[in-house]
Amino acid sequence: MRPELSEYNHLSAGKVRELYEIDDDHLLMYATDRISAYDHVLTPEIPDKGRVLTAMSMFFFDQLDVPNHLAGDAEDPRIPEEVLGRALVVKKLRMLPFECVVRGYLTGSGLVEYRENQQVCGVPLPEGLTEASKLEEPIFTPATKAELGDHDENVPFSAVEDRLGEARAQELRETSLEIYRKAAEIAERRGIILADTKFEFGLDSDGTLTLADEVLTPDSSRYWPAEGYREGQVQPSFDKQYVRNWLTGPKSGWDKNSDVPPPALPGSVVEATRERYIEAYERLSGEKFCEWVGKCV
Ligand code: ATP
Ligand code: MG
Repeated sequence: MRPELSEYNHLSAGKVRELYEIDDDHLLMYATDRISAYDHVLTPEIPDKGRVLTAMSMFFFDQLDVPNHLAGDAEDPRIPEEVLGRALVVKKLRMLPFECVVRGYLTGSGLVEYRENQQVCGVPLPEGLTEASKLEEPIFTPATKAELGDHDENVPFSAVEDRLGEARAQELRETSLEIYRKAAEIAERRGIILADTKFEFGLDSDGTLTLADEVLTPDSSRYWPAEGYREGQVQPSFDKQYVRNWLTGPKSGWDKNSDVPPPALPGSVVEATRERYIEAYERLSGEKFCEWVGKCV
């Protein structure tokens, strides 16, 4: 008999994920089907999104040669039936207070900063780069985790050194870059560009640097189809594109710069988004989503 979710102490609710405590050393990380865009949680949910993201995290944890926080497989008996396929049992870690962002291409907040001072997080870049430019080398651009509802803030590498010491800061940067390179190579073989991604690390009881949170999902990464990539243009991302297009297009009637919450997504947008997430998983992993754990509700 699997436990009920209500038997676990509920620790926190993020925009997308819920965290429960299994015991002193283990947590249950549960990905809901919620989707956020432009800092709003949208309605309705995207059916199966939590399972797709969990499958994707699991796929990448398997591919990487770095210690990670997994403490069981996707069918671990500590996972309640009601969240099977969308939850993982993980080691409870002492989380490091940085979001470890790696960028192989320039876009988003990186591009904004570059346009101000030709740097990102203190890393100087060559002149003449533009939207979606490929960088000569991937760069480590850490950020501090914002308080609830705020944007994360990019910080220079020296801020990581000041907080964690030089050796740990270097380890964090080297490990993040190594994971990015490996994942970008896997994606490239599948015709997908990994533009940038964010990792979170923690320390386990003996101080080992451990990869935590979700990894290399479309919620923590920008994936672009390699086909049709054009420097100088905003690339269609592999996940929320339908959602963003619809929200900012004429049909939604919504102004993203207003304080008004966005309207509910029409069924066609929900379905197209669901298919996009599944396609991203299937292309990257080479696995069939219908074979993943848990049932579609
Ligand atoms: P949001 O994503 O809405 O901005 P959030 O990042 O705080 O908010 P989630 O991502 O939903 O929330 O929740 C995951 C939380 O669990 C994060 O705070 C993350 O740092 C933490 N976490 C991830 N893995 C572990 C772990 N192994 N041990 C302890 N905490 C972890
Ligand atoms: Mg998070």
